[in-house]
Amino acid sequence: MELAKRLQSLTPSTTLAITAKANELKAKGIEVIGLGAGEPDFHTPKHIIDAAYEAMVAGRTKYTPSGGLVELKRAIQGKLQRDQNLSYELSEIIVTSGAKHALYTLFQVLLNEGDEVIIPIPYWVSYPEQVKLAGGKPIFIETTEKESFKLAPEKLLEKITPKTKAIIINSPNNPTGIVYRKEELMKIGKICIDHDILLISDEIYEKLIYGKDQHVSVASLGERYKNQTIIINGVSKSHSMTGWRIGYAAGNKKIIQQMTALASHSTSNPTTPAQYAAIAAYEGTEQSVEDMRSAFEKRLNLAVEKIEQIPGFSVVKPQGAFYLFPNVKEAATRCGFETVDDFAASLLDQGKVAVIPGSGFGLPDHIRLSYATSPQLIEEAIERIGQFVQKHW
Ligand code: PLP
Repeated sequence: MELAKRLQSLTPSTTLAITAKANELKAKGIEVIGLGAGEPDFHTPKHIIDAAYEAMVAGRTKYTPSGGLVELKRAIQGKLQRDQNLSYELSEIIVTSGAKHALYTLFQVLLNEGDEVIIPIPYWVSYPEQVKLAGGKPIFIETTEKESFKLAPEKLLEKITPKTKAIIINSPNNPTGIVYRKEELMKIGKICIDHDILLISDEIYEKLIYGKDQHVSVASLGERYKNQTIIINGVSKSHSMTGWRIGYAAGNKKIIQQMTALASHSTSNPTTPAQYAAIAAYEGTEQSVEDMRSAFEKRLNLAVEKIEQIPGFSVVKPQGAFYLFPNVKEAATRCGFETVDDFAASLLDQGKVAVIPGSGFGLPDHIRLSYATSPQLIEEAIERIGQFVQKHW
């Protein structure tokens, strides 16, 4: 049977594929250390689990409104006010089955055939695929290590055409961990306002920022910026709740209304007990969020120091998220590998460390390492990578 043409160019998620391969090796008893994970390794905090349990016991296990429980929208409204000093009406918020589905739904609502969406490289693997699935055209703009992987406004201006509908800015960033500063966002936001381009601000790693940097939402820079922005966020990374599948979008009422209509025919609603859990996440203590952040910060410092010592590796030190994105081209070449993809494949097979090749994020000279694992395993894994490089050099 011929399957849908629409999906023929769809690339399955590289991140999930490597994790699956690593798990396969582990199941055979091979001691692989996985640095591929895109999720915190901590348990979901207990008060959040309790809230879901209590909701279920009380019988709150039925359908909810498609756009999410009013109580949860209120909790999100409160969070946006508290954290970013942003006021949204309930009709400007939709709860979704994870931030990924917020983005998917948004592109379906936004794009007509051939509409262009600007995506800075490196990007999170799902952006281009989701844009294409909605009939849109990803327009890539490369960023360099010298620019700390931040989008230069001049480069953005060059790529704008009458078909440009939106741009995605992801800060803190996956895979680089870089964090945009206020002035940088202001310049990009101003261009979006001038050219009426929707700024999709993916803030899923908002709570994971280290050192002196702070999270700035472009929507918080003024009313015009807010009107031009759709915020995408959720509890997956902030509260270690990846499996609960709760995200949200906040922005223009008309867009949110259409997204809600589409959700009513696709998901019906995000899982009900998980929505109650998310209320507890946003309204309960933030201590666990801070505890996880500070544990990640220690791991980052440990991992960067060790990675920098591997010959042929160079890394821009991140300020957020839980990834390192070193350029390893020199090491790969010196070790006799034609591509970094081959280097990563061999590192998994022989070195027993799973990392994600940068090709999945649009920068094939890099690898992404996640430090969402214990400090002991981080040390051991980087040790193994160092030995692997030394052996092949
Ligand atoms: N945006 C980015 C940049 C991500 O890295 C991820 C998850 O890996 C998501 C969105 C999706 O998060 P969620 O688990 O809420 O769907």
